[in-house]
Amino acid sequence: MAQEDVFKKIVSHCKEYGFVFPSSDIYDGLGAVYDYGQNGVELKNNIKQYWWQSMVLLHENIVGLDSAIFMHPTVWKASGHVDAFNDPLIDNRDSKKRYRADVLIEDQIAKYDEKINKEVAKAAKRFGEAFDEAQFRATNARVLEHQAKRDALHERYAQAMNAMDLAELKQIILDEEIVCPISGTRNWTDVRQFNLMFKTEVGSTAEGASTIYLRPETAQGIFVNYLNVQKTGRMKLPFGIAQIGKAFRNEIVARQFIFRMREFEQMEMQFFVKPGTEMEWFRRWKETRMKWHQALGFGAENYRFHDHEKLAHYANAACDIEFRMPFGFKEVEGIHSRTDFDLKQHEKYSGRSIKYFDPETNESYTPYDIETSIGVDRMFLTVMCHSYAEEQLEGGETRVVLRLPAALAPVKLAVMPLVKKDGLPEKAREIIDELKFHFNCKYDEKDSIGKRYRRQDAIGTPYCVTVDHDSLTDGCVTLRDRDTMTQERVPISSLRGLLEDKVSITSLLKKLC
Ligand code: ATP
Repeated sequence: MAQEDVFKKIVSHCKEYGFVFPSSDIYDGLGAVYDYGQNGVELKNNIKQYWWQSMVLLHENIVGLDSAIFMHPTVWKASGHVDAFNDPLIDNRDSKKRYRADVLIEDQIAKYDEKINKEVAKAAKRFGEAFDEAQFRATNARVLEHQAKRDALHERYAQAMNAMDLAELKQIILDEEIVCPISGTRNWTDVRQFNLMFKTEVGSTAEGASTIYLRPETAQGIFVNYLNVQKTGRMKLPFGIAQIGKAFRNEIVARQFIFRMREFEQMEMQFFVKPGTEMEWFRRWKETRMKWHQALGFGAENYRFHDHEKLAHYANAACDIEFRMPFGFKEVEGIHSRTDFDLKQHEKYSGRSIKYFDPETNESYTPYDIETSIGVDRMFLTVMCHSYAEEQLEGGETRVVLRLPAALAPVKLAVMPLVKKDGLPEKAREIIDELKFHFNCKYDEKDSIGKRYRRQDAIGTPYCVTVDHDSLTDGCVTLRDRDTMTQERVPISSLRGLLEDKVSITSLLKKLC
């Protein structure tokens, strides 16, 4: 099946099974805003818990914070967002559609990559086992031609972005003959800067009101609380502050479902270190964060680091962790060495001293900062994309199954009476009453057992238990495993011990230590 179709199926599965709904669905939705349904909210909470615990429980020197979404407007002046949190946008006059100029050019670069990969795939098929990919890439005339065009475009694009040369960005779009995907024409406007922050007003009277912003990142809430936390927590460098919260960006192009939203959630941790040690910490956090992703068991080959060439104004090193989505490798998390930029800016704009007194060296200095920043929603999409599977079963049947890591699954155990009578429902309820304090259990008595299994497969429930007539006398039930579909008879009294370890977040956290 084409990857595009797989993605469409995942999106409709998310809606059909109560994971993600378009916002204000009964009014036909609101662009790039989504709501999480009864199963989605559980999965999302589990992702957040896995992240939070991996930061705050596993590191003695990382503490949490929950800062407000509204902040003093000067925060965004100091951070550079008022002046520089812009995307270059361009409109197509015929379709009236708006695009990010940088995205149009990056898509064009990706097209060259695709052409090269197609040549390689064709040759691999032709030559079979004897195929030497490295040699083919280095010598094949068509590959070399595409590669040269790609590299030249990339170089020109990087220079234009670094200089934020808007006229040059437009010229690249014209020279590359990039057309609007909707109208198919090259009738482009000039490229303009567009600030991504949402504005609103605080105060009740027009004269007294002042403009404030919905935060475009949670990080600034951490920086402006640096002194509060460091002093009241008596924190010594190196130490970190972790926060999960909503962020808002007026994205020009909202596409790919929950990959790019206008309201989304971030899990950010700012790690403050002594100047001069930041590169070592940057390296360590790259490793630690990659390990966190890979502990989910999605396969190392589906992740890669992408080092940034164009650094943001505050960074001296930056890297993304990318995951293989159905629409290609995409950023899920950013790791940035933000230097002392933010704390120094807030020092300058607030007039307060934000220095750290180092008791070991008797010096005062502004700490450097390493940031790890991951979008909850993008992580959710990663989990969904990797877990969704359509399987052919024996006897010609098919099943749709979400192979979610058990620790993240919304429901851990479904308990089903074989029939709705003879005391079996009561026995099933008894089991739930015992286990509900330890993990999320669901009761299901409607339809045949086969149908009930399929329903649980579709929401990723790792285990199902069936209560039958024998259960009333032998105290045993049938335990079914989602992935292997094997069934075994186990005593009811052993259920908690058998499952708890497998379905708890602790099972994931242990892999990190
Ligand atoms: P992109 O290049 O995709 O716009 P970014 O580099 O601007 O992302 P950061 O500012 O580094 O993103 O934000 C950190 C993380 O927040 C990203 O890795 C991503 O997971 C998440 N994120 C950023 N923007 C969005 C968005 N519009 N919708 C959902 N998640 C987002």
